[in-house]
Amino acid sequence: MRLWNGWGDEKNNLDFELSASSRAFIEQRIGKSTPLADATLQDALSRVPVSRSPEHRLISTDAEDRLRHCRGQSIPDWLAMRSGDFGTFPDGVAFPETSEDVQEILSFAQDNDLIVIPYGGGTSVCGHITPEPGDKPVITIAMSRMNKLMALDKKSQIATFGAGILGPDVEAQLAKEGYTLGHYPQSWELSTVGGWVASRSSGQQSLRYGRIEKLFAGGRIETLKGTLDIPTFPASSAGPDIREMFMGSEGRMGIITEVKVRVTPIAEQERFYVAFFPSWESGMQATREIIQSGQQLSMMRLSNATETETHLKLAGHERVVNLLNRYLRMRGAGEGKTMFTFGATGSRDQCKSALKLTRKLIGKHRGVYTGSLIGKQWEHSRFRAPYLRHGLWDVGVIVDTMETCLDWSSVPAAVVDMEADIANALSADKEDVHVFTHLSHFYGQGCSVYSTFIFRAGSDYAETMERWKKLKAAGAEAIVRHGGTISHQHGVGIDHAPYLPAEKGVLGIKAIKELCQLFDPDGRMNPGKLVP
Ligand SMILES: Cc1cc2nc3c(=O)[nH]c(=O)nc-3n(C[C@H](O)[C@H](O)[C@H](O)COP(=O)(O)OP(=O)(O)OC[C@H]3O[C@@H](n4cnc5c(N)ncnc54)[C@H](O)[C@@H]3O)c2cc1C
Repeated sequence: MRLWNGWGDEKNNLDFELSASSRAFIEQRIGKSTPLADATLQDALSRVPVSRSPEHRLISTDAEDRLRHCRGQSIPDWLAMRSGDFGTFPDGVAFPETSEDVQEILSFAQDNDLIVIPYGGGTSVCGHITPEPGDKPVITIAMSRMNKLMALDKKSQIATFGAGILGPDVEAQLAKEGYTLGHYPQSWELSTVGGWVASRSSGQQSLRYGRIEKLFAGGRIETLKGTLDIPTFPASSAGPDIREMFMGSEGRMGIITEVKVRVTPIAEQERFYVAFFPSWESGMQATREIIQSGQQLSMMRLSNATETETHLKLAGHERVVNLLNRYLRMRGAGEGKTMFTFGATGSRDQCKSALKLTRKLIGKHRGVYTGSLIGKQWEHSRFRAPYLRHGLWDVGVIVDTMETCLDWSSVPAAVVDMEADIANALSADKEDVHVFTHLSHFYGQGCSVYSTFIFRAGSDYAETMERWKKLKAAGAEAIVRHGGTISHQHGVGIDHAPYLPAEKGVLGIKAIKELCQLFDPDGRMNPGKLVP
């Protein structure tokens, strides 16, 4: 069973504990920290109020079901879960098994004046699924039982899934037939195909497979105004695309029940490699040239010097890292070096040629290619980072991220300001913040900028929340100032909503609101999210 107050499964045996050297490194950056006290599940359950939901065969009003579908994975969510002070709860959780069940619950919600929140895997990091306080009972619709591969058209390479299927099940069911979707957000283990569409997600290998926008071919959506079947076309010039209206709709317009995705045969070969550049500037220039020259890579990630140093320190293999550092220094990548991780996926010939051309450009920018050994490590631990949050939490350290996407001409200055503003956000409180950044999801025109920040928990939950708010605002304001999108992949939810008008404009926001109203005139679908 899923952990009720963190990431992963109750029985998983991943080692959350930080090594002594990792702890010492973090302590040196932000100071000694003290953990906050965790509430027990029993404490938290004792605070679940009596349900206001009318009875229905598909709705559970069990306190534990309600608690387990109440929050996502943002820092405010973690603070709520860990303190046991959730604030608001859904009054019931519905577990539909078919699209007809979903339509039945929506009609029930309409007849009984209920609020409805669609829930995929609950991996939101922006407050997407938190119930708003209010007089109307709230029903969360958990999509977990709609979790099957329903059809696979091999000729057209289109698979139809129940929207509540989790990432590993998507790949396991396709692999039996020799196919893959190739969509790997870092939350892959616990997020769903419906959630990916509803929040416009992006996977680590979007260079080869594309973001969810490219993969989502059509499907079925239940709305308060009836059912929408979106047919699949390889392409169409017949007016605006209905798929686009629902991608990023964040549960405001309807419930995606069936998702048709574009799949491909499993590639013959896939490998990941690492190189180091002597500086951030040389790394940025090289990666821009690599992407703009059209190499057939499946992923690229350039860590800045602080992220490179942090990753090497937290890797835990001190002796090997020391040897690597010595070798890199000899080859001209010493202090200030930046780590470039990249992957090639495809036929053997395609991979060979992509590697050869990429190595040529790495060499042109004095990068040091180190082969596939560290790349294998990355592949092995690519979904492990979310578990690290537990190890940090246990010693009173909080980690969060800010991400955006900008044109190449805006990237360098935006990185400097995002990092500086986040690092200084707690200076009035005399608190140090450890900030580091990577570029990933590369496009010809620009790339996504992803900054991670680590800070000490406050003396209590309220102080920790205040610290987080200052850090989040500092990062978001820097993004807006530089003309970046408020989110490249995490969506809007509650936390990013105040910054959305800056990118959509007054008329744009009005258009989104009116679209929501068309499908949901009474405002009962996930109110307060996306466009409050
Ligand atoms: C550790 C971690 C790493 C992450 N890494 C990535 C990443 O690499 N890339 C990325 O894109 N995101 C990432 N995320 C964010 C998150 O995982 C994505 O937004 C994901 O797409 C959410 O999917 P979900 O199924 O968990 O949806 P939920 O969190 O359950 O819901 C998200 C939103 O979608 C709506 N929704 C869900 N299912 C449906 C449905 N069937 N019909 C209508 N609306 C629905 C909900 O109402 C809500 O508004 C990460 C999150 C965490 C915690």
